[in-house]
Amino acid sequence: MNQTYDAIIIGAGIMGCSIAYELSKKGWKTLTIDKLAASGHGSTANTCAVIRVHYSTIDGTAAAYESYKYWENWAEYIGVQDPLGLAKLIKRGVMVMKSTANDQLKKIKRMMKELDIAYEDLTFDMVKEKCSMLDDTSYHPPRRPDDPEFGTPNERPLQGAIYYEEGGYISDPVLSVHNVQIAAESHGAQFKFNAAVMDIIKNGNRVSGVTLEDGTIIYARVVVNAAGPHSFVINRMAGIEKTMKIKTRALRHEVAHLPAPEGVDYESTGCPSSDSDIGAYWRPEVGNHILTGSEDPECDPKEWVDNPDEFNRNLTEQARVQALRLAQRIPAMPVPSRIQGVVDLYDVSDDWIPIYDKSDLPGFYMAVGTSGNQYKNAPVVGKMMAHLIEQCENGRDHDNDPVIFHLEKTGHDLNMKFYSRLREINQESSFSVLG
Ligand SMILES: Cc1cc2nc3c(=O)[nH]c(=O)nc-3n(C[C@H](O)[C@H](O)[C@H](O)COP(=O)(O)OP(=O)(O)OC[C@H]3O[C@@H](n4cnc5c(N)ncnc54)[C@H](O)[C@@H]3O)c2cc1C
Repeated sequence: MNQTYDAIIIGAGIMGCSIAYELSKKGWKTLTIDKLAASGHGSTANTCAVIRVHYSTIDGTAAAYESYKYWENWAEYIGVQDPLGLAKLIKRGVMVMKSTANDQLKKIKRMMKELDIAYEDLTFDMVKEKCSMLDDTSYHPPRRPDDPEFGTPNERPLQGAIYYEEGGYISDPVLSVHNVQIAAESHGAQFKFNAAVMDIIKNGNRVSGVTLEDGTIIYARVVVNAAGPHSFVINRMAGIEKTMKIKTRALRHEVAHLPAPEGVDYESTGCPSSDSDIGAYWRPEVGNHILTGSEDPECDPKEWVDNPDEFNRNLTEQARVQALRLAQRIPAMPVPSRIQGVVDLYDVSDDWIPIYDKSDLPGFYMAVGTSGNQYKNAPVVGKMMAHLIEQCENGRDHDNDPVIFHLEKTGHDLNMKFYSRLREINQESSFSVLG
């Protein structure tokens, strides 16, 4: 039986659910389709869910700061009861080390001031008052342990850090996606699971729906690609990849879970931290663990994945590399012989800044290229995408007359050409998970 919707959203991760929520609030009849059995079971399931507001661009910072306000008032944003309960922001603030790699945070501090985001400027003695297990030795540039110079200290120790209160991490990212699904359903949004999209169908020069693996055809005047690390597969189905200046690819990443040093209650007192000097970020995890990922230093080989359905989900030597790097900053941290953790894919754009845009196929939109750093931005992305779709469907030529999105909680106006598929590579980017 043929079915018809206003919009089909491919992917029920944090992005697809947020877009479904905002479109359904505007009265659109949406269907979100996922090939997995439930929402949030794609790459969002393994996110570290760090909610930070510092980015390498002013627009990136503004979007993250606005999104923070939604995480902070999650119950209000969701607006309905979820029988499974609500995800929680563990508000611990965020610490960012000053280093040669980030020019002692001069640019980041300037942007935070411009956007009125409060932060404390800390000397390393002040850093130690907040987190006594940290050591100030500088090892820049980050290296791999098989480099003979790994662990060789620089003469000048770290100069300190910034700390800001408005940040933390989300207790349970899968639950957060479920919350958004329930919120969307309360506005009439529909979801279909265990259903893989195999083709994008067109009528003349416009998108008209999708074909599922079992042959079912579902019609809609709008189709949104929110397929995470499968984004490039869907763009190829739609035949639009070649028309994009900025493209996306799947990149494999490992996150190591390590025990906190003995006697340190890191789980209750620690905060998410970023340290370009050793190329690592980390945050507290249940079981008094420290979870740590790579900030993509040049010495780490990039594991691009051609088939996002088939990649090695086991930890490799990379997890040990990350553990040993972190042990430079936290010398008392034990490094177990068998490291635990998770492996998943980032959906990386050419400049590590996402693509939230229309496409050259009328009616086909994308929220892709989230580059390992956009979970936190989902509430704003849902709103921006719904606004963009509405504007374009009402005839706006977004490529030549870009949509401006007003960030209502923090006041900044975001020019959405920042996220265009037709932009030049943004040289302001960190070209890493830092965005
Ligand atoms: C290890 C790791 C750590 C991270 N840490 C952070 C962090 O600390 N902070 C932060 O902000 N961000 C972080 N991120 C990034 C963040 O998690 C992602 O940007 C975000 O979760 C992407 O959400 P999504 O909805 O786009 O993708 P996904 O959650 O992957 O959802 C896409 C969905 O599309 C479905 N799909 C794909 N193809 C099809 C098809 N053909 N038919 C039907 N369904 C399909 C998939 O099954 C999947 O469920 C991290 C990511 C990873 C992998």
